[in-house]
Amino acid sequence: MTFSESSHGDSLVTYEAARRTPEKGLDKMGARPGTLGELRKSEWSEAKFAHRTVKDELRENLLRKLRADEELFPGIRGYDDTVIPQITNALLSRHHFILLGLRGQAKTRILRDLVNFLDAEIPVVTGCEINDNPYRPICRACRDRIKSEGDALPIDWLSRERRYVEKLATPDVTIADIIGDVDPIRAARGGHDLADELTIHYGLLPRANRGLFAINELPDLSGKIQVGLFNIMQEGDVQVKGYPVRLPLDVLIVFTANPEDYTARGKIITPLKDRIGSEIRTHYPATLEEGIAITLQESWTHRDGYAIEIPSYIREVVEEIVFQAREDKRIDRRSGVSQRLPISCLENVVSSAEQRAVRCDEKSAVARIADVYNAIPSMTGKFELEYEGELRGAENIARELIRSAVGKTFTRYFSDANLQSIVQWFEGGSELKLAASGKTAEHIAELKKVEGLFDHTAALGVSAKDEAGIHVAAAEFVLEGLWAHKRISRSEERGFFAEPRKMPEPRETQSRMPRRQFN
Ligand SMILES: [Zn+2]
Repeated sequence: MTFSESSHGDSLVTYEAARRTPEKGLDKMGARPGTLGELRKSEWSEAKFAHRTVKDELRENLLRKLRADEELFPGIRGYDDTVIPQITNALLSRHHFILLGLRGQAKTRILRDLVNFLDAEIPVVTGCEINDNPYRPICRACRDRIKSEGDALPIDWLSRERRYVEKLATPDVTIADIIGDVDPIRAARGGHDLADELTIHYGLLPRANRGLFAINELPDLSGKIQVGLFNIMQEGDVQVKGYPVRLPLDVLIVFTANPEDYTARGKIITPLKDRIGSEIRTHYPATLEEGIAITLQESWTHRDGYAIEIPSYIREVVEEIVFQAREDKRIDRRSGVSQRLPISCLENVVSSAEQRAVRCDEKSAVARIADVYNAIPSMTGKFELEYEGELRGAENIARELIRSAVGKTFTRYFSDANLQSIVQWFEGGSELKLAASGKTAEHIAELKKVEGLFDHTAALGVSAKDEAGIHVAAAEFVLEGLWAHKRISRSEERGFFAEPRKMPEPRETQSRMPRRQFN
């Protein structure tokens, strides 16, 4: 899951250029034909390539990968049993298709990865703006050139990375942007009729000829352009400024959309919807483990200089935040909460730990819950609030999400633990405020005052031989967990404390928070 431009940014991290897997015979530099005559005598024979469409090509290469049991979308996780088999069917069916999903579900990244199913290179007529097939050019200029130059017609080779064109749909996108415009200057200069193909200034779609054309957020495209697209897909011709233009393009058109926008009445013209062969629904990771694996893969956590350790329970908290957010009624579910939230959050958590290491002049750092709170600026922009949420404010919502994520994670590790001695220490009137410096040695000394606290860090996988930072992070997590479960209190001024107990009835406190309630 998304780099470039795509402002709605569907991919999760920097888009890596499509992996170059040299195809047999197609990557021998220098051995490639340079003219139409040489092409005819080569393995790219007219019989084989004159009528092979981009959809045939995708199908052929996909079948080869399937037979070789190759991974189809390396780096895309969690879609093996759902999205990927459906895309495979769409490509085998030679369908134009649409990915329907909420933000941050790797839609754009999947579309970009489709270039991996193209040949490494294909021959095109040199200088042609729409990558014409030398055997079957569709533009008038190339047809004229074949007549005059014959087998001497020069050939260029187009790599698959250059055969992908992407456009984010917005209401101000015009027919000229997507399909083209008649260029009166060109017409005047060449002495052509305005309706002549030679006067067309091509838009993005013709420039994607013999490749892939991706339109993100299709419902934002005006009805007029949807009609234009449909005409190209169906009839291979279109009207530009009232002039009929014949453009039998060879292109696979793929789209993305938010599911609710797409199904909303009147957003997509019916004949276009009818021509989109498959609707494929993307989704968020189904399990916490899957989410953690994606976040781990996509986030930048290995920093140079300082060794930053991220305990597993911190990773779980970060991932749990987004699971909580997707369920939260105060957050707009229609737009979803992107997988970019835990990715940016984790990166910020690591940076907060890194900053502490540098400031405290320590060689390494272990991420703590405090670092997750410091990462709030990486979260607040990644969810849209409902009215109730807006009243509460994004930052407060983020704090509450962290607290409930800590609570859930805490339950997983401590459902069977008896932490009453710690609670009692606070109930006896003791308080604990951790030093603002964050220095590991200071924190150890402070946390050791809490009776029995370090007896419980073993449940988090901490052992005696671990470095001090690991112990500090674990002890802090235990206190945060008790606070998340409302067994102790916490405030800015006082740190951790407890209201004096009214009845000496330890069971009472526990019954408010029954064990295993989340299991
Ligand atoms: Zn051409």
